Amino acid sequence: MNDVANEMETNSDVYKTLLESTRAIPWKIDWKTMKFTYIGPQIEHLLGWAPSSWVSVEDWAARMHPDDREAVVNFCVSQSKAGTDHEADYRAQTKDGDYVWIRDVVHVVRKDGEVEALIGFMFDISERKKTEEKLLRLQKELEELSFQDGLTGIANRRMFDSIINIEWDNARRNHQPLSLILLDIDYFKQYNDHYGHIEGDDCLKRVAEILDSAATRARDFVGRYGGEEFVLVLPETDAHSAEKVADRCRRLILEQQIPHEKSQIDQVLTVSLGVGTIIPSHTDEPREFVEKVDKLLYKAKQKGRNRAEYG
Ligand code: GH3
Ligand code: MG
Ligand code: MG
Repeated sequence: MNDVANEMETNSDVYKTLLESTRAIPWKIDWKTMKFTYIGPQIEHLLGWAPSSWVSVEDWAARMHPDDREAVVNFCVSQSKAGTDHEADYRAQTKDGDYVWIRDVVHVVRKDGEVEALIGFMFDISERKKTEEKLLRLQKELEELSFQDGLTGIANRRMFDSIINIEWDNARRNHQPLSLILLDIDYFKQYNDHYGHIEGDDCLKRVAEILDSAATRARDFVGRYGGEEFVLVLPETDAHSAEKVADRCRRLILEQQIPHEKSQIDQVLTVSLGVGTIIPSHTDEPREFVEKVDKLLYKAKQKGRNRAEYG
């Protein structure tokens, strides 16, 4: 039939039986002619193409997913030329037009320093790939979830911690102003006590939505800082523009006229804000900046609430 099979026969029929009954599909390519001299009959069961239809490496390349073809062929050819054993994963097309994930494990046979042949095994790794893809999807979902606030759906504190550091470095490098707004609902304890925790949760969701709509630039960041406190990071935004955004946030929430009978300053829900702007220098620290803005928020509370303090 061909030389691998012949070799088997001279050794023992047992080898041939073994080779042709394993789930791994053996094959051999002659390096000079670039033709298959052997391929296990199992290939037909896996891909539908009869062993006799695997004539040259072109057949192998042609039955590969177009997105995988160039990279895989180039990789295998260069590794083979270098005489290096290698492995490649790719999608092979079945006769029905479906694709099966294959791992090809290739051994380069050399004689007197010259490449003589390639011998390999094809493994069906579809199940493994499916699991890998599922794991990747799950990992991505988990990543998204772990940066998302469960109640409001906006970014959480963890995300803020990452973003502030990234934007801080960016602002420092480019000598751009970076603004930060901390916003806290006024008398929210009384709101909860009066309307109940579930109403309180709904109220937080509404506030999050409003803030999300108030920050209009693509890189503006809105997150839940904790409890009934929210945070906005506004890159490349000077103090004047930050003041406008802060005022927009405060007014938009006021305009909702969310009833808050137990508030000591109004009959509707209000918020207080601390607003800071900085062009970070090498000696500044993001943590100190956040603390400064937090103090401004505290000042806004002290000065009567439903207002913003700037610094
Ligand atoms: P101030 O005007 O000084 O900010 O008063 P406050 O009552 O808003 O401030 P305080 O920090 O005393 O109370 C915050 C309240 O926010 C208490 C807590 O029950 C409520 N809260 C925090 N997180 C949640 C939440 O996830 N859901 C609900 N419903 N309430 C929350
Ligand atoms: Mg509060
Ligand atoms: Mg608070």
